[in-house]
Amino acid sequence: MNAGLKFDFHMHSCASDGTMTPTDLMLRAADAGVECIALTDHDTLEGLDEARTAALALGMKFINGVELTADWRGRVVHLVGLGFDDKAEVFTEYMQKLKDLRDQRAQEIARKLYKKGLPENLYDLARARAGDTQIGRPHFASVLVELGRVSSMQEAFDRYLGQGCAGDVKAIWPSINEAIDLINEAGGVVVLAHPTKYNFTFTKIRELMTDLLGAGAVGLEVSFPGVTPGHQHELIRLAQQRECYVSAGSDFHSPDQRWTSLGRYPEFTAERLITERLYAATA
Ligand code: AMP
Ligand code: MN
Ligand code: MN
Ligand code: MN
Repeated sequence: MNAGLKFDFHMHSCASDGTMTPTDLMLRAADAGVECIALTDHDTLEGLDEARTAALALGMKFINGVELTADWRGRVVHLVGLGFDDKAEVFTEYMQKLKDLRDQRAQEIARKLYKKGLPENLYDLARARAGDTQIGRPHFASVLVELGRVSSMQEAFDRYLGQGCAGDVKAIWPSINEAIDLINEAGGVVVLAHPTKYNFTFTKIRELMTDLLGAGAVGLEVSFPGVTPGHQHELIRLAQQRECYVSAGSDFHSPDQRWTSLGRYPEFTAERLITERLYAATA
């Protein structure tokens, strides 16, 4: 298998908080020239079958993916699982637990926002928007835009849902160890998503990587929207020191996101591309 294929290993469909169906997402990615692709919805595998069928029909190589929300020392981090068997037994209970957790959290978000003067039926509206999939803060944000309470998703996060706001409701997410064990038991690998998006210092990111690699993760994303050249350089250096794999992806959610598009992330050169590991497993 050719490791030089153009890949994108981080994106979302309407099975979580993206706006496009898995099929339309794959069509758009193929149009953008992506050759190897992973769908990585938040805490769900529900879009994978449809995405795989579409990707293979379009001649792309498809990798099962997921972006798991996990707890590290009381902080929320995102872990990208890749190349696992999505039909593995271990997923059933774990994903149901996350669905219940997200649903209870959504009800709490609605209660908190009602106290801030927003409509009482916010949960029902957000639930309707999410459908039968994993509900998250972006579903509330788009309802608030639709209701005319805010003029953009960004404003919804700034005023109601972002860090420190009433709608930033904490949940007891599975630990990083539980998330990594899950993916490893299903035959996949785990990398840390967008390491510079947690407001951690680099010292903290290094500590996090020590814990993740110790728990069985294999690497980190070094290229994603918004990463500065300086930070990317630091991340690649960190990967080199730890001799771990590097991954990259667009974190695409919607064509409305002007700052990213499928198959696009800052260019980089690094050893141990995650593709080497994934293609070796499937070759
Ligand atoms: P949740 O998993 O429900 O906590 O929602 C997290 C998701 O919200 C992220 O994956 C992003 O898609 C989105 N998000 C987080 N912060 C912002 C922000 N400031 N502006 C827009 N979207 C955001
Ligand atoms: Mn998201
Ligand atoms: Mn994320
Ligand atoms: Mn993401």
